[in-house]
Amino acid sequence: MSLEILLKRLGLSTVARVLTDLIPVAEREDWSYAQFLERLLSEEVAHRAENRVATQVAKAKFPFAATIETFDFTFRSDLKRQMLGRFLGPELVSDNRSLILEGPPGTGKTHLCVSIAYKAIQNGFAARFITAAALINELKIAHDLNAALKPYTQPHVLVIDEMGYLGYGPGAADVLFQVVDQRYQQGKPILFTTNKPLRQWGRGLHDEELARAIIDRTLHYGEYLKFTGSSYRLKGAKFDFDRPSPNEGTLPSENAETHKTDLTTSKALGIQ
Ligand code: ADP
Ligand code: MG
Repeated sequence: MSLEILLKRLGLSTVARVLTDLIPVAEREDWSYAQFLERLLSEEVAHRAENRVATQVAKAKFPFAATIETFDFTFRSDLKRQMLGRFLGPELVSDNRSLILEGPPGTGKTHLCVSIAYKAIQNGFAARFITAAALINELKIAHDLNAALKPYTQPHVLVIDEMGYLGYGPGAADVLFQVVDQRYQQGKPILFTTNKPLRQWGRGLHDEELARAIIDRTLHYGEYLKFTGSSYRLKGAKFDFDRPSPNEGTLPSENAETHKTDLTTSKALGIQ
């Protein structure tokens, strides 16, 4: 049997690809047989790891690419990288470390949750991202709830983004509780972002008791972090919700930046 066929049978596609390039290098540099084999297999392993991460990132359905390395901790001075350390290692999954990030729009909540889920993927786990509204809508109309729950109960890490941005209709608390409870039973963490204080979740979900049960399970092994401060999106003092500006109400119309700010501001106010 030819080498090519043997490699194909064993599924060593990277070895097959790099072999012809590496043989002359090995000869020229006088590698031992062991060195040569090690190099070939290292290439195979590295390529498989890259493929796995790319596949899992696609499956996770992140809204944008974000990593902890691109998070500016100097901007978010109320947050230290060490505080997040406990969410960035394999303990996130092995210790079921859920997280609720509360804060105003633009404070980097989604960025951080995507970064944590991305690290989990790099650590060998599977992750899934969804907004609370999309999750609730999908589950409420499902004919087979158990089947519909699977994509959200199976991954090791689930991000539920934007809890509380909308009032959810009847039945929302029930389906959300199903997700939270099943994951809790299986010891799998959830990363929530919200712009609403936890006490107000019951109002949005139209069920105080279930909202309490959801928060209770999430925080049993998890943590709650609250961000204050201004929006990263509005960085550069285009507008500050917390500080009235002297010329507020007058819109300098010739400025393209102002227009951009208006869009962001509408989005931040949830009126888009
Ligand atoms: P939130 O979910 O709190 O509304 P996002 O995480 O969506 O905010 O952040 C808004 C935008 O600003 C995103 O593009 C995000 O990558 C960026 N961003 C927010 N905070 C930071 C930060 N501290 N460092 C780098 N980028 C940030
Ligand atoms: Mg967000």
